[in-house]
Amino acid sequence: MKAITFHGVGDVRAGEVADPKVVDPTNVVLRITTSAVCGSDLHQYHGRGGALVQTGAVMGHEFMGTVEDLGPEVRQVRRGDRVIVPFSVSCGRCEWCQRRLPTQCATTGRAVFGGRFGHVWGGGQAEWIRVPFADHLCERVLPEMSDHDAIFLGDILSTGYCCAENGGIRPGDTVAVFGAGPVGLLAMQAAQLFGPARLFAVDRVDYRLELAEELGAEPVSLERGDPAEQLRALSRTSR
Ligand SMILES: [Zn+2]
Ligand SMILES: [Zn+2]
Repeated sequence: MKAITFHGVGDVRAGEVADPKVVDPTNVVLRITTSAVCGSDLHQYHGRGGALVQTGAVMGHEFMGTVEDLGPEVRQVRRGDRVIVPFSVSCGRCEWCQRRLPTQCATTGRAVFGGRFGHVWGGGQAEWIRVPFADHLCERVLPEMSDHDAIFLGDILSTGYCCAENGGIRPGDTVAVFGAGPVGLLAMQAAQLFGPARLFAVDRVDYRLELAEELGAEPVSLERGDPAEQLRALSRTSR
C-alpha cells in the first residue's frame, strides 16, 4: 500500500510499504477514508521533543475508515462499518484502562498509532491500518455524519474535552485556556459546556485570538505583558 513514512528531521517520504493484516483475533484492518496531520507529527518533522517515531514507521494517528477485515474475537464492528479510532493504542482491560486512563495502558505501554513511544504501530497516513483491541478502540460513525465532522473525535476534540473535564470546571467559574491552536480552541468550546461565567483565551497570535473570541472567549495576548497579571486585572472587572 501507499503510506507516509518518517526518516528523520525534515525527511518524510511517500512510498510503498507492506499491507497491514489481521495478526491477533481482536484486530481489524481499516481502509482509511480520512487522515489528518497533528501538531505531534510536526514536532517530529521539525525535530522537537526527541525522536519518538522510528525510522521507516508509517506516520499519523488521526484517521478514520471502513472495516475491511476482522479477527474472530471482534464483536462490536462488522465488515463495512465506518469507524473512528482514538490516537492512543489501549487495551480496555488493564487496571489503567479500567480507571479510564487509556493513555497509561499497561498492556500496550502507552503507545500511540504512528510508531511513537518505543512501540511500533502503523500510522494512519496510509491506505490501510491495523487496529488492535477493535471492540474497545473502534467507535461506529453515524451515516449522516461526514468524515469531516467526525475526524476530530480521534484526537483534537477528545483531547480538548478531556482538558476541560479534568479542569473540574463548575458553573460560574472563571476559566483560562493557554494556547489557542486547534486543541486550545476545542478546549474552549468544551469548557463552555460546563457553564463557566468567564472564559479567557491566552495566546500571542492575533488571528488565533480573534477566532477564540468568535467562539466565545475573551482574548488575552502574551504580546501585551504578563498573562497572569492581565488575567488578575480582567477577572476583577465585569465583562
Ligand atoms: Zn494528534
Ligand atoms: Zn490497557
